[in-house]
Amino acid sequence: MRFVTFSRRGKPRIGAVREGGREIVDLSVAAPRLPADMTDFIAAGGAALEVAARALGTRKKEARLAFARVNLLAPVPSPRRNILCVGKNYFDHAHEFDRSGFNATAGADAIPDVPIVFTKASNTVIGPGATIPAHLDPTKSVDYEVELAVVIGAGGRKIARRDAMKHVWGYTVVNDVTARHLQSRHKQWFLGKSIDGFCPMGPVLVTADEVPDVKKLRVQSRVNGELRQDALVRDLIFDIPTLIATISAGMTLQPGDIIATGTPAGVGIGFTPPKFLKKGDVVTVSVDGIGELTNPVG
Ligand code: MG
Repeated sequence: MRFVTFSRRGKPRIGAVREGGREIVDLSVAAPRLPADMTDFIAAGGAALEVAARALGTRKKEARLAFARVNLLAPVPSPRRNILCVGKNYFDHAHEFDRSGFNATAGADAIPDVPIVFTKASNTVIGPGATIPAHLDPTKSVDYEVELAVVIGAGGRKIARRDAMKHVWGYTVVNDVTARHLQSRHKQWFLGKSIDGFCPMGPVLVTADEVPDVKKLRVQSRVNGELRQDALVRDLIFDIPTLIATISAGMTLQPGDIIATGTPAGVGIGFTPPKFLKKGDVVTVSVDGIGELTNPVG
């Protein structure tokens, strides 16, 4: 199934997307006992999904809305914890980043031996169509990064690689927007990654059963219509099971945790001179079969 979070009468609600994608069902009307918050809904597991599946056939007119007319928010608009992110997880991007001069820790091997995991504060999340507030970057070096995001269902610690995919509830798309000079100047990436509004997410959250082979998905970004990044999930240096096993080795993953899996080559600092985002630009990031997310830059 495919889900969105949207705002109706000033409150966030969960919508289930009907076959064909033209309509959504407002679950707070069609199945009012379900949680209205996406993280709670995810934590409610398979039983909640079954209720939502039945609600898709609702006859309540008030519950059925035209997809194009709803006010979409990020599918997980208020993550409980920071977004877990992976750095340098595509070969070409790892080389591009080290060559750019923006990698404060360059000089070590360009290709990491183990996943580089950092986080991005939850205040960064914005929805489809919302403006990326580039003006908040004091260093004027805003860059885009398309990423497939994995959303955890059942939590756990010490999750084995072979069991990892059972912990994936679904997928969405994020743009790991980054202030490059902050990322470089402060050595640790957190500040450059955590400016308010620097994590556009969405538009939909697609359950894992809708994605038979995640490795085949194509990840792309465009700036003002120009193709900048284009890769397959198969090109990840560390695949999704490895990331889940690595992160959960000592830390308990929780339902609704989000793992941004890394970005391929073609980011703004890959060009000479760098192509930073500026006011008036429009960025579209997409993962085939999951969705396309467009945000203006302001
Ligand atoms: Mg990234």
